[in-house]
Amino acid sequence: QSSRLLHPEDTIVKTAHTEVGGNKLALMAGPCSVESEEHIHRMAKVAKEAGATVLRGGAFKPRTSPYSFQGLGEEGLKYLREAADENGMDVITEVMDDEHVELVGKYTDFFQIGARNMQNFSLLKEVGKTKIPVALKRGMSATIDDVLNAAEYIAACGNNQIILIERGIRTFDNKYTRNTFDVGAVPVLQQLTHYPVIVDPSHAAGVWDIVTPLAQAGVAAGASGLIVEIHDDPEHAFSDGPQALKPDTFKEMARRCEEIHKVV
Ligand code: PEP
Ligand code: MN
Repeated sequence: QSSRLLHPEDTIVKTAHTEVGGNKLALMAGPCSVESEEHIHRMAKVAKEAGATVLRGGAFKPRTSPYSFQGLGEEGLKYLREAADENGMDVITEVMDDEHVELVGKYTDFFQIGARNMQNFSLLKEVGKTKIPVALKRGMSATIDDVLNAAEYIAACGNNQIILIERGIRTFDNKYTRNTFDVGAVPVLQQLTHYPVIVDPSHAAGVWDIVTPLAQAGVAAGASGLIVEIHDDPEHAFSDGPQALKPDTFKEMARRCEEIHKVV
């Protein structure tokens, strides 16, 4: 079902305010974590102003340390949904656990499957049983075939509204960037599947001043969209502050990427 050979035409994933894989570059943005009601409303306005149609924000966070901020849970989902609705946007948020698929599904327009869960097959099956689009992040050590098989788990359960996200992989040198952005994965995945491919330059870069060049590279390579972390006070962000773009930098990134998208 995922293979281009069996399904030659591109899949376009459509939600109320967004088309991923259509002619327009899909722009998703927001903070790494939903931090408060007030903050997510402010970030939604920034994202919207820059042209984003999807608001991101984690309410269930897969933190490396169990002592780090774990997210606001359902309260965060409510704030995220309200902030998106107020600005005429869609919501993308991570679901970490099969037991939470129903709960998260009440609030979101796209399920995000995080890199750490790319091969959590019971979670993939659970989101595969819904009709909600699934944005699948490439695992940090996942090969292209691993990504394709993970997508197949979702599709095999009946949900073919799938978006693939290249977000960087672990390589022998991740001293200056958090991960190694595999820009070649964009055209390769597009050749092999009919699903739209977007890029997450934030988790690939890990530092804010590398985000724009990677975003530009991803769009130049043919990505259908971007998912980017933004924050107005990155030093005090609850998670991933170092890679967050401030509002003005984000606006400029979006402007440049839209220019590039017109010529690819
Ligand atoms: C995130 O989007 O905040 C996140 C945790 O991403 P990833 O799964 O790519 O690390
Ligand atoms: Mn993050």
